[in-house]
Amino acid sequence: SDQPLHGSVALVTGASSGIGAATARCLAREGAAVVLVARRRDRLDRVADDIASTGGLAVAIEADITEPERAEEAVQGTLDRLGRLDILVNNAGIMLLNSALHTTIEEWDRMVSLNVAALLHMTHAAVPHLIYAASTSPRKVADLVNVSSTAGRIARPGSSVYSLTKFGLNGFTESLRQELLAEHVRVSVVEPGTVDTELLSRLSDTTRQAARRQADRIEALRPEDIADAIGYIVTRERRVAVNEMLVRAADQT
Ligand code: NDP
Repeated sequence: SDQPLHGSVALVTGASSGIGAATARCLAREGAAVVLVARRRDRLDRVADDIASTGGLAVAIEADITEPERAEEAVQGTLDRLGRLDILVNNAGIMLLNSALHTTIEEWDRMVSLNVAALLHMTHAAVPHLIYAASTSPRKVADLVNVSSTAGRIARPGSSVYSLTKFGLNGFTESLRQELLAEHVRVSVVEPGTVDTELLSRLSDTTRQAARRQADRIEALRPEDIADAIGYIVTRERRVAVNEMLVRAADQT
């Protein structure tokens, strides 16, 4: 097949909506068998059905990856059902914007447990399999892509803990990149700007309105714009490593 990812298996977390769903569709179009991980079964099935209807292969795994056993099972389930893991996209994340004074500690905990702890469990479970895939696949390379944010580079009021998780993710990614390059596992970070997804709908009412007002002033990116960036990274030949991609909406300062 002339599809660049033919024979590869990709796992995408947070594949039930937004950037993750678009990324799963994109990787399937490039020929990968795709495992979709998130909590909303109906939404996962819808994405998987879409992929199947265009001739792709998709498996939905319903899991709350903030539970460590569920994260490990998602990786193991991928191995059991598809035999390998070539690409992990750590995309699941939540942004709860609020000031330190007005937020609740629960909001902070939720961001840390998904954006950091769950991502670590997924990564730790996947790394040995990525190394194995890199040494055995026709592509002779494997990929780990972490979805960070412009908030992983620039801190603003109201996003203190979101920025804590994303700045940390950037450092984690760079360290892993150096650890794994000799194994031909490429480790990359993608930093989206404002993307039109369900991310804002998860905010509390007041912060959602403020964020919407801000987002309404610009033409936001579409989830497919970020999926394209991830698709570009993982379809490069093994001599090319795209370490980092910062993709803003064109109107965004
Ligand atoms: P969405 O809210 O549409 O997607 C978030 C995904 O994460 C959903 O599929 C959700 O599915 C999944 N998820 C949430 N909690 C869990 C959990 N406990 N276990 C498993 N999956 C979970 O938003 P986006 O597509 O925008 O967000 C994707 C990533 O992009 C995030 O990391 C976000 O920080 C980042 N990003 C987004 C930007 C934007 O402007 N939209 C800008 C910069 C970065 P479910 O609820 O079914 O579990």
